[in-house]
Amino acid sequence: MPPGGICACGELIVYLTSHTNDNPGRHFWRCRNFKTPRDCGFFLWDDEVGLGSARQGGIDALKTELEDSKKKLEELKTKFEDTNRKLEESKNKISKLQRKLDCEMMNKNLAFSTIVVVVLAWLTNREDEVLLI
Ligand SMILES: [Zn+2]
Repeated sequence: MPPGGICACGELIVYLTSHTNDNPGRHFWRCRNFKTPRDCGFFLWDDEVGLGSARQGGIDALKTELEDSKKKLEELKTKFEDTNRKLEESKNKISKLQRKLDCEMMNKNLAFSTIVVVVLAWLTNREDEVLLI
């Protein structure tokens, strides 16, 4: 007997044997209001009842797999956000270092220019001294 054994009408389903040319001797379950205005349309071959629960088992397994995948996806999302944050921090560090480097380069250029000016001034003075002699 199929699980429940009650159709959408809320009544017990009936167990019958087919006498059609297509399914001779095949057992089935159907709504007891079959072919009446109250027929809910329930019909199930008895040899497919097991298939029905096997199908349900398959669906349950898929649901579990889906839940697992969702959990893994959530973990990956968290990791991704973490990595993204670290990347952003690294970018900030790099731009700070770049600014510092630019600053130091400017200072070095300034220092070099100052040295050149001082040396030139010294040389000029010496030439003046030489000329004076
Ligand atoms: Zn029914």
